[in-house]
Amino acid sequence: MTEQQLRRSFVNCSRGEANGLTLPPGFHDILWDDLELLGWRDAKAPLRGYLVVWDGDQPVGVALRAADTRMSSRTAAMCLLCQTAQTADAVSLFTARRTGEAGRNGNTVGTYMCADLGCSDRARTEIPPWLQDRDPAEVAEERTAELRDRVRGFLASVRR
Ligand SMILES: [Zn+2]
Repeated sequence: MTEQQLRRSFVNCSRGEANGLTLPPGFHDILWDDLELLGWRDAKAPLRGYLVVWDGDQPVGVALRAADTRMSSRTAAMCLLCQTAQTADAVSLFTARRTGEAGRNGNTVGTYMCADLGCSDRARTEIPPWLQDRDPAEVAEERTAELRDRVRGFLASVRR
């Protein structure tokens, strides 16, 4: 994917915002075909984050805003995309402006996600305790397939 393709893929922010966003670290070395989604936080705008997902052979980008309050590290929380249980300070509520008229009217959708948006890695590497007696490759495959479905669901609610 080129930088231009990436910037043009965003569906819920202005052209100006898409052109101004900070690219993910190591952008030119990313193996896009291997990812269900690419998520990253904006290094220059701490509350901003981005998800880019393949929709067929088209990339679709969604701009997100993180809640500015952090949850406690003493409680547990779960990312609703990759369903990894973590301490609550590693999970954040993100909202996305909806596309079209709904978005122009200030409508957003929100969900809890890994604060670093690293769900794609975590679905492969973090095997929940109750699945640890199973074949890790099989579990990782199931987890990434579920992640893909949930991200598509989120995307559908942004574009609805
Ligand atoms: Zn996650």
